[in-house]
Amino acid sequence: MAAAESDREVPSALCTEFLNFSVKDTASKWLQVTDLYKEVYHHLARYVPKIYCLGPNLNPQSEDLLAQMLLQAPLEWYLCGEDPSTGLAKLEQNNQPSQLCGHVFKVGEPTYSCRECAADPTCVLCMQCFLGSVHKEHRYRMTTSGGGGFCDCGDTEAWKKGPYCQKHEPNISDSCHEDPLAHLSTDMIARCYNVFSIVLKYAVDMLTWDKEDELPPGLEPPDRSDSYYCMLFNDEVHTYEQVIYTLQKAVNCTQKEAVSFATTVDRDGRKSVRFGDFAFCELAKSVIVRNTSRQSKPLRVQVMHSSVVAHQCFALKALHWLGHVIGYSDALRRILCQVGLERGPEGENSSLVDTLMLCDSKMWKGARNVYHQLFMSSLLMDLKYKKLFAIQFAKNYRRLQTDFMEDDHERVVSVTSLSVQLFTVPTMARMLITEENLMTTIIRTFVDHLRHRDLQGRFQFERYTAQQAFKFRRVQSLIGDLKYVLISRPTEWSDQLREKFLEGLDTFLELLKCMQGMDPVVRQVGQHIEMEPEWEAAFTLQMKLTHIISMIQEWCATDERVLIEAYKKCLTALTHCHSGFADGEQPITLSMCGHSVDTIRYCVSQEKVSIHLPVSRLLAGLHVLLSKMEVAYRFPEQLPLSELSPPMLIEHPLRCLVLCAQVHAGMWRRNGFSLVNQVVHSVLWLQIYYYHNVKCRVEMFDKDLIMLQAGASMMDPNHFLMIVLSRFELYHIFSSADCRKRYNRETANKDVVQQNNTLTEEMLHLIMMVVGERFEAGIGQVEGCDEIKREILHQLCIRPMAHSELVKALPENENKETGMERVIDCVASFKKPGVTGRGLYELRPECAKQFNLYFHHYSRADQSKAEEAQRKLKRQNGEDTALPPPVLPPFCPLFASLVNILQCDVLLGMLGAVLQWAVEPSAGHWSESMLQRVLHLIGMALLEERQQLENSSEDNDFNFTLKMSRPGEAPSNTASVLALLENLQNAPHLEVHKDMIRWLLKTEAGIKTLRERSASTSTVTASGSRGQEETACDKDKAERKRKAEMARLRREKVMAQMSEMQRHFINENKELFQQSLEELDASTSTSLEHSPTSSDAALVCVGPRRSRPREKRQVVTCILCQEEQEIRADGKAMVLAAFVQRSTVMSKNRKRPPHDPKRYDPLFMHPDLSFGTHTGSCGHIMHSHCWQRYSEAVQAKEQRRQQRLRVHTSYDVGNGEFLCPLCECLSNTVIPLLPRTKGSSSCEQPGLGQWLKTSGQQIKAMHSAHRKLQPVSTVEETVEEECPAPEVFTVNYIPTNPYSSTIKEMLTTFGTATYKVGLKVHPNEQDPRIPIMCWGSCAYTIQSIERLLVDEKKPLFGSLPCRQDECLSSLARFGSACWTAACQPTVQGHFIRLVAALIPDPLVEASPCILDVDMLHLLVSVVLSYGSVHSQDSSGLSVDAVQLHLFHLITVAHMVQILLTSGPEEVTMEQESGEAERGEEEGACRLYNTLRTHVGSSLPEVGSGWHLWRCVKTGILPYLRGAALFFHHLNGVPAPPELHALCPGQWEVLCGYLSLPSNLLQLFHSQQELLEPLLHGWCTHPGVQQTLQGGGVLVSFPRESNSLIDLPDDYSALINQASSFTCPKSGGDKSRAPTLCLVCGSMLCSQSYCCQTELEGEDVGACTAHTFACGAGVGIFLRVRESQVLFLAGKTKGCFYAPPYLDDYGETDQGLRRGNPLHLCHERYRKIQKLWRQHSITEEIGHAQEANQTLVGIDWQHL
Ligand SMILES: [Zn+2]
Ligand SMILES: [Zn+2]
Ligand SMILES: [Zn+2]
Ligand SMILES: [Zn+2]
Ligand SMILES: [Zn+2]
Ligand SMILES: [Zn+2]
Ligand SMILES: [Zn+2]
Repeated sequence: MAAAESDREVPSALCTEFLNFSVKDTASKWLQVTDLYKEVYHHLARYVPKIYCLGPNLNPQSEDLLAQMLLQAPLEWYLCGEDPSTGLAKLEQNNQPSQLCGHVFKVGEPTYSCRECAADPTCVLCMQCFLGSVHKEHRYRMTTSGGGGFCDCGDTEAWKKGPYCQKHEPNISDSCHEDPLAHLSTDMIARCYNVFSIVLKYAVDMLTWDKEDELPPGLEPPDRSDSYYCMLFNDEVHTYEQVIYTLQKAVNCTQKEAVSFATTVDRDGRKSVRFGDFAFCELAKSVIVRNTSRQSKPLRVQVMHSSVVAHQCFALKALHWLGHVIGYSDALRRILCQVGLERGPEGENSSLVDTLMLCDSKMWKGARNVYHQLFMSSLLMDLKYKKLFAIQFAKNYRRLQTDFMEDDHERVVSVTSLSVQLFTVPTMARMLITEENLMTTIIRTFVDHLRHRDLQGRFQFERYTAQQAFKFRRVQSLIGDLKYVLISRPTEWSDQLREKFLEGLDTFLELLKCMQGMDPVVRQVGQHIEMEPEWEAAFTLQMKLTHIISMIQEWCATDERVLIEAYKKCLTALTHCHSGFADGEQPITLSMCGHSVDTIRYCVSQEKVSIHLPVSRLLAGLHVLLSKMEVAYRFPEQLPLSELSPPMLIEHPLRCLVLCAQVHAGMWRRNGFSLVNQVVHSVLWLQIYYYHNVKCRVEMFDKDLIMLQAGASMMDPNHFLMIVLSRFELYHIFSSADCRKRYNRETANKDVVQQNNTLTEEMLHLIMMVVGERFEAGIGQVEGCDEIKREILHQLCIRPMAHSELVKALPENENKETGMERVIDCVASFKKPGVTGRGLYELRPECAKQFNLYFHHYSRADQSKAEEAQRKLKRQNGEDTALPPPVLPPFCPLFASLVNILQCDVLLGMLGAVLQWAVEPSAGHWSESMLQRVLHLIGMALLEERQQLENSSEDNDFNFTLKMSRPGEAPSNTASVLALLENLQNAPHLEVHKDMIRWLLKTEAGIKTLRERSASTSTVTASGSRGQEETACDKDKAERKRKAEMARLRREKVMAQMSEMQRHFINENKELFQQSLEELDASTSTSLEHSPTSSDAALVCVGPRRSRPREKRQVVTCILCQEEQEIRADGKAMVLAAFVQRSTVMSKNRKRPPHDPKRYDPLFMHPDLSFGTHTGSCGHIMHSHCWQRYSEAVQAKEQRRQQRLRVHTSYDVGNGEFLCPLCECLSNTVIPLLPRTKGSSSCEQPGLGQWLKTSGQQIKAMHSAHRKLQPVSTVEETVEEECPAPEVFTVNYIPTNPYSSTIKEMLTTFGTATYKVGLKVHPNEQDPRIPIMCWGSCAYTIQSIERLLVDEKKPLFGSLPCRQDECLSSLARFGSACWTAACQPTVQGHFIRLVAALIPDPLVEASPCILDVDMLHLLVSVVLSYGSVHSQDSSGLSVDAVQLHLFHLITVAHMVQILLTSGPEEVTMEQESGEAERGEEEGACRLYNTLRTHVGSSLPEVGSGWHLWRCVKTGILPYLRGAALFFHHLNGVPAPPELHALCPGQWEVLCGYLSLPSNLLQLFHSQQELLEPLLHGWCTHPGVQQTLQGGGVLVSFPRESNSLIDLPDDYSALINQASSFTCPKSGGDKSRAPTLCLVCGSMLCSQSYCCQTELEGEDVGACTAHTFACGAGVGIFLRVRESQVLFLAGKTKGCFYAPPYLDDYGETDQGLRRGNPLHLCHERYRKIQKLWRQHSITEEIGHAQEANQTLVGIDWQHL
């Protein structure tokens, strides 16, 4: 920018200075001087303190302007050597933009990664690049950025495919290798170099400057002022509240200022809180320090001289400027990189870039952010310098990390977080490993920071202090760095890489050695451990390292030489760990079944045991790789296989597995308890849980099992099993000579027996796993994806699962991938979700035969669920219920010998023993699951034999059938396994296992046949056994039937129990109840249809001709006492539970401010319906006295509860809220049920003219009567004649109240409640507005139901649920009776004013103009208030006649209203119409023209009667439908059947029902002379002109139903919209929780201090505040970052609701954790909209809170 252009306001002191300043002259001078550095510094010293920091209030705009003019402009001029506007443009022309996008992410911005093509999950694209890339068609992941980091578009190493988006696609003609500097002249390069080095040096000097009161040499200001700043720095220790509180005290500011200070400190890292002389600032400092030093280290505060602060401000500005200038040209960028990395005078690591990095932890947050950004736009965008920078970064790595450990800032603002940008580039990572030995450096640094060791040098986390725990969390980021370095595996190995990787591995093994055996535990007997032992830290470490360990194995798997070396190193490490093996442990000899083995004496239950064995497990992993890569067969000579000692290998893993078994057996309960999610768990149980958990098991449980397999494959199976028995502490049971007679011998402690049973079960399971788990490539002969297929299959055997559930159950690799997508379709079929629920995967039926009940990743709970599900499935398919083991793949050669375990003598001995126990069961010494496992093992052995027979032609020595038919060996001459099985087949107590035993025997027979067939020619006929089978089959069927019957009975019993717990059965009960009501109604309506009045004449609901339903008794049942009660005026009051709420659902004007409740006059509702009162009901009826007793009890209970434990309930008792005793629906009052109003028999009734006259007289009479009631003083002046009342109208007559006292009481109750809620005021039974509010609520509720029926495309009558019918009837009848509970003259006064809106009355002031009146509200109010007038009329004038006259009058007024507001003519439509409607069109024209004569030019000329009639007809329909509902419920006239359906011809039927001509215009034209004056009065009201000319809110008819806002189909569009949303209060800050109002579309800054406001004396968050303006207290929001719908009601109620966005798997993603692309589900959004339209949001919240008590505790009001 040229200086001359910007001559705006500047501080006057600078004016002269500025006017004399010439950019060009300054720059020219600089071009001449020899010591530019000194000159520029001099310039800065002079100007910077004059621009920046001149007072307490900074003025960024003018500062920036001056800095640009006086400081940056000369630099730019010098740089270009000419006017920068031309110079920079030239540079820009030659610029070759980087192929990298490099867009730096804002907090909350959406980022995209491709699951198919990204090199690792840190590779992301910005939204723009993503949309222009190939990946948007791939399987992608979407997340929101935490800030920092940049777009990787254009980085060829980041993407396996499609690295460029359309925008960043490189131009092939450009040669990328060209030196960007080639385009610049040497002069230019030199100048540029000068400027950059001076400016960067200056910025680095200032940002790293730590003196408070002086400046670096050359920068001292010429005239030094005595002005200081008290600077407050942020830390992560103190909370917002503490800072705010302290500031208020220390610098004496308001809370608002304090909040703003605190917000800035949190955002920028520092903020000056006081400006003045030194002492003044020092005082504030001491107060702050004193106030914050109590609990922790004090807040950091510095008193800094203003010139220091000024230079620091400009230093930041200078860095921004550098970033800006290099944006013009890649050449400038390269020069800046060069300058930055140039080695300084202090030698190595002294460049400016190094200096900045090394001072990182001393700088404040704002400064760090600015220079990090500069690094990203310079060093990281230039491929050559990125590499050089990476090297410097690696060289400084150790120091940077150490600084970071001491620093207390979050990692995102630390320079160490740049590692992700450098280490994830594969070539860079490998270069850093080979050249800077990065892998070793990272691991060393990590180990150095974990100092706590025990005597053996292992990590120790016991008695861990908070400080250490904090450090431990920070040190974990190093593991993240290591992961980045290893994430892409090398495709080629150089010798150097091998060397450095193995060196890294050595260091890593040192780390693992510190973990091997850490945190050992000893079983506690006797006393419980009181203190909860610290074990999480060790597990955290294990969990964090899991991926690293896996990745190291994967690296080894890519190179044979590396694998061999790694195996050797790992073995050495393990040997080293076990050097103490067998030390002090006594050797013993075990013998059994003729075999014996030497081992040691060791008991898991008595000695130290550790669950952490990473070295053993790494070796296990490498051992599998030897097999998988066939290294074991190809280079056996290079492997130290002979050094392996199988017993040593298996010892520790086996101990660990035994520990698990003992924990299951309940032997470790005394080792302490831990509370997790409100559930108490034994501490060891939790550790075992993690050991098996999907997050850890790959490098824990799985590897222990593999190690056992590896060891066992190298041992005699009998030896292996004996050692296993011994470690399980079961050896003594199975080895004894009479072990088959266990019950005789062992009658000891019941607990011990139980324990041993469990241990035996666990041991048998372990043997199955050792032999049966062959699905990992390298152990069994399987493909890579077989393993994952099998995992999924077994999950789905439990039940059908959603995508996310499956993902959770599968281990993720370091790329967060499970590999599930590749195989899922082979094993499962997908079922789409409905409006609720989610999409589910179901197992393909043909896969069920691969089900293994003893799948090693099943927990015991999973196992029993799966067993139940699979048995049920088999029963459904009419199969037997045996669940035999599946056929397994063969082992790889290295593990092949494992199958021999199945036929070894020790195992057969054990099998025989268990079977024998089962034959002669004795209490407690044997269990069914033991037998089940034995049967499974026999099944495995038989299948193994059959498979070997079928597959191999040559002789094999696996002959289990032979061994199983031999007599037992251990105690000689006992029954053979086969004999025992045959024996058991008929045992009555083993019904469940019968199918399985039969399957075993059949298989055995089959194998024998096979053997015989292959041996000779003889065949066996199976006919005999066939017959047997059949009878068994029949017996079986009968049995199954009996069981089904039993199950049915059990189910019924459970159902009965549950229905007592009503709350879970809301819906059933509701339906039941409704059904009975419907039956009741049905009986009424049929009786009516047969009554003579309705059969001949058409049904009419209003007027003298109205149909009169036969009076019948209405009997209801009280839900509380179950007594029946007739509804009678003089009877006991019956009430309906009801919920009254304010509503803006139908509002056409959300901008209207809420009314002042004290002064608001609700008599006339504006047609914009901006605030209404809605009444709803669950339809449940009680006696009023029963209800009162109930609510008193609830209140008392609630008071007790609140005193005891300060918990809230979902309902606010203090506000009169309660839950319906039957359905638990939220209610806040009750409506009394009243009998139908009796229609008087009609005699001759007056016509319109006559009636107008009579009512005019009556009104006059009332006026004068009322005036008499008023105090004399006010009527003094009005002298006028007494108006004689018509003789049949007695003004002073007080009618007898027809209602019983309880009904009267309930009339007051409901009236007061409606008034209280509707106006948000305190209850006041005397307030004259009470009846008005009740009528209003009746009208509003009718309107909202009418809208709902239209929106749902349902007929007007017959489709409402009973509860709504019931509610409307009681509302209407209540409305007509409520005047009896109020002061009669008051209600008459309302009537007079209502009528005056239509018939001018000189005595009524300020009648509204008809454009400001909602006609249905007027109709309802005037009809319902008439009762108070009619009670004094004895002339025989019927209510019906008056209702009809009023109705017709209002209908005419509404037509006028519609015509006045009808929009301009639409010419596009076909305007032809039939003869039929000619009359209507003509009438409409005539009326319209009459209106134009009254109103004049504000009404446009409309020629087409068709258009006008159409406007009238469509505009008035909602009103007519509302009127029909109203009169139907008020007068109880059944609706004509045509209105119960959506058939054509509704208009005529509706008009007929309402006693209207179907040509509505006739209403006017037939009474034109009478109506003309009224029309004139309406049109000449000043309000009409004003509104038509745009002075008011003009509502046109029909009013469209309101909808929730339109949402985009793609969720990322919303995220993007929210990420650019800034907090409206804190000037340009990103909002942390942007939240979208679904009603009006406003975006709010939720859950944040900045946007809290005060509402009714309380602080509330932006959402709650908005709710009160936009939704009268009810709000529906979308929390964009969370992808979560939020319902709010009032200040204390709220709940979260599933968002209407689903991923392709039919699931929502609340919290955006999975990151699958989300799309709008219209059905679900419509469902939310329906909840809103039918006023059910509050009810929904109530149900949610009742179901989930934790929701009650959430601080909703601050959202
Ligand atoms: Zn991009
Ligand atoms: Zn791009
Ligand atoms: Zn892709
Ligand atoms: Zn009752
Ligand atoms: Zn209810
Ligand atoms: Zn809103
Ligand atoms: Zn805000």
